[in-house]
Amino acid sequence: MPIAPSGSVDVVVVGAGISGLLAAYRAASEGLEVIVLEARDRVGGRCHSMEAGGVHVDLGAAWHWEEHKRVPRILEEFSLERFRQHEPGVAIYEPQRDRPVQKFEWPDVPPPSWRVAGGAQAIANAIAAELPDAVLHLGSRVRSVDREGGEADTGAVVVSGEQEDHSFMVRADICLCAVPPRLVAHTIDFGPDLPVSIRSALRRTPTWMSHSLKAGVVYERPFWREDGLSGRIRSFAGPIGDWHDATPPSSMGDHDGASGAGALFGFGPPGAVSGVDAATVRTAIIEQLTHCFGPDAADPVAVDTHDWTADSFTTPEQGSACQGQHPEPVPELASSYWNGQLHFIAAETAQDHPGFLDGAIEAAERWDRDGGYDAVRFGQAI
Ligand SMILES: Cc1cc2nc3c(=O)[nH]c(=O)nc-3n(C[C@H](O)[C@H](O)[C@H](O)COP(=O)(O)OP(=O)(O)OC[C@H]3O[C@@H](n4cnc5c(N)ncnc54)[C@H](O)[C@@H]3O)c2cc1C
Repeated sequence: MPIAPSGSVDVVVVGAGISGLLAAYRAASEGLEVIVLEARDRVGGRCHSMEAGGVHVDLGAAWHWEEHKRVPRILEEFSLERFRQHEPGVAIYEPQRDRPVQKFEWPDVPPPSWRVAGGAQAIANAIAAELPDAVLHLGSRVRSVDREGGEADTGAVVVSGEQEDHSFMVRADICLCAVPPRLVAHTIDFGPDLPVSIRSALRRTPTWMSHSLKAGVVYERPFWREDGLSGRIRSFAGPIGDWHDATPPSSMGDHDGASGAGALFGFGPPGAVSGVDAATVRTAIIEQLTHCFGPDAADPVAVDTHDWTADSFTTPEQGSACQGQHPEPVPELASSYWNGQLHFIAAETAQDHPGFLDGAIEAAERWDRDGGYDAVRFGQAI
């Protein structure tokens, strides 16, 4: 949707992942005028689910664990359901393609995890559906965030960027930047320049799971379960190193799984499929699963992959220096700047469970906890 050239709102949110959407929803619920600017043509960011055969398979975030208390709260708020990750059964070890696979009991660790019915992207879709009309602008890539009047002033924040065939500019009292810190450091300019401490914190904070590749496969039924297999595969032959059962329970009424379809998702080394056409990737994946599970695996309904390292809306080109480390809480990322007018709220800025879905929720709700819009209006920003 085109943005009015002289658009001016209370709050502008950059990024429509879980953190940006939730912050926008909370601000809009307080009666504030909000705009969300999202570079991709979809919501959800790193929550990205493929759909085939009536099931949704997560190619991005999938699980939450018992210690992630915010996720079930949000699922309840937006009337979503969750289910246990399917674990029972025997796992498969594939040391090499030209050797037989081995079966083994997977040890009972880590503790059981939960998945979201309809895939993790359902959280983003559900929040986006509750936003007032004209709040969400897809295909809107932000390039710079400036403060009118510079350092000393309390003028508006001006957010500029590009839509498909034109540039835009939005003026707002407050900017909530819900883009992963490392991507911010490499792709968004700030004027006046940010203090060295926050610039360095943005640059050094790894984006959780950005250095990963995920594959999803859907079958007409979860045939491996009939052989007492859990769907878990540990492979050194590849292309996917770790497979998990991604079948939703068919007992979930009109939710995923009612069709009886079976699904798997797995993690591979980033770059394993880069530059390779989709048909070749599909063949390599089917070959692997047929070697592990037998001929039943030869004819999937759908195969898809997503290499997050090659996705410029998650990983900057220079991003390879931060391979795979999990972010730690960074206090500079949880502070506000420009007298409370600029906040960084992506999952990596959370002080509790940074990088996780739970962290995205914590970070999105931090701004409100710290006084929200009133803290700026009445000059109480911290
Ligand atoms: C493969 C994978 C597996 C994962 N598994 C798990 C898991 O099992 N459990 C878990 O808790 N977490 C997991 N995560 C992490 C989880 O996905 C994130 O914690 C969460 O989705 C972050 O949400 P966010 O809104 O903070 O950021 P993001 O989802 O990254 O959203 C940022 C948004 O900003 C947009 N954007 C970027 N640049 C711009 C710009 N210049 N202008 C406008 N918009 C822009 C992006 O397109 C994106 O929509 C996984 C991540 C990946 C990639």
